[in-house]
Amino acid sequence: MTSADLVVIGGGIAGLTTALAAADRGLRVIVIDVPRPGAASRAAAGLLAPSIEGLPSAAREHAVAARDFYPGYLERLRDLGGWDVPLDRRGILELAEDDRVLQELVARSPAATRLSASELAALEPALRQNAGAVLHPRDGAVDTIALMSALNSAVEAAANVSRVVDTVVSIELSQTPRVVCASSVRHSAPWIVLAAGSWTDAISGLPRRLPVRPVMGQLLSLGTNELHHVAYAPAGGYLVPRGNALIVGATSENTGLACDISAAGREWLLDVVRRAAPALVAAPVLSHWAGLRPVSPDGMPILGPDPACPSLVYAAGFSRNGILFAPWAAERIAAGLVAERTWKSIDSFGVNRFDGY
Ligand SMILES: Cc1cc2nc3c(=O)[nH]c(=O)nc-3n(C[C@H](O)[C@H](O)[C@H](O)COP(=O)(O)OP(=O)(O)OC[C@H]3O[C@@H](n4cnc5c(N)ncnc54)[C@H](O)[C@@H]3O)c2cc1C
Repeated sequence: MTSADLVVIGGGIAGLTTALAAADRGLRVIVIDVPRPGAASRAAAGLLAPSIEGLPSAAREHAVAARDFYPGYLERLRDLGGWDVPLDRRGILELAEDDRVLQELVARSPAATRLSASELAALEPALRQNAGAVLHPRDGAVDTIALMSALNSAVEAAANVSRVVDTVVSIELSQTPRVVCASSVRHSAPWIVLAAGSWTDAISGLPRRLPVRPVMGQLLSLGTNELHHVAYAPAGGYLVPRGNALIVGATSENTGLACDISAAGREWLLDVVRRAAPALVAAPVLSHWAGLRPVSPDGMPILGPDPACPSLVYAAGFSRNGILFAPWAAERIAAGLVAERTWKSIDSFGVNRFDGY
């Protein structure tokens, strides 16, 4: 048996950011993770899009705070170990296929800038056949591959974080909370953070069944650097410039924990490009992959302690916006671990909102 101040289950963005934030506050942390095909964080497109994602109004203000938390967070990662993570805050274009849609977009986005067809064509020639767009300032995207590499390196470098590659099979929330791994090794700590993405259901001993289900998303990357802004396509899907490539996302499919790419998924994604930026559809497909979003019933994360077993803390159910929310949420969870009164800042994300679900 090993012991620490905190055991984190899961080494995706939720687990790693929480481990680092807790270590920053002097806690000794064990992160237990087993790599799984379909883990969401590396698969994600990295959009930071609180203005567009159709979030419930109660969550909007937190989502904007989470987006605006990013520049400082990445600067701290750079100062810590020189890890450079590209962040794009040029704004996101929401494209309109005709004038009626453009009017609707303008009406529902008071903070956005309206672009006529000619203004859009001047800004982004590859999008010239659209009827116009609105530009949501300050939204953008982060390079999730660079971010996950930086977080992994930061965890490796942190003196008070140790990593274990193992599968957690159960949690025992007795006097001294502990987790039991497939290897039979136990790890105990006064706090356990559950950040197991789409796989929470497979862990036994939880005080409740978390309402988190996997929703698979497929993405493509195309070999073109002709687009400079993130763009939401008129009939669903999005285009995200990343380095010399263009990420095209994403399908939403209920496949359980199966996570396989398909020819139909590839066609759907190419169709997004065909409709939004037809000139780019001839670009070579560099890669095609999929991941599992851990989706909660209201699409918002589940954060904070379990009311019945407060030593178990959730960093779960991040749904479609886990890249956006995780670093911000991790700071608030870590603050809660060292000074419990500060759970208040994430009260509205508590698991009890699903009581009786
Ligand atoms: C296609 C797609 C596109 C997306 N695009 C965006 C986007 O543009 N913007 C955005 O904000 N979000 C996006 N998301 C959502 C975001 O990626 C997720 O919300 C977020 O990554 C979830 O992080 P996580 O750490 O909870 O889960 P994961 O990244 O899945 O990590 C969970 C980890 O826990 C491990 N694990 C699970 N069970 C156990 C166990 N029992 N023992 C040990 N280890 C275990 C898993 O192997 C995995 O490594 C997207 C997701 C997908 C799939």
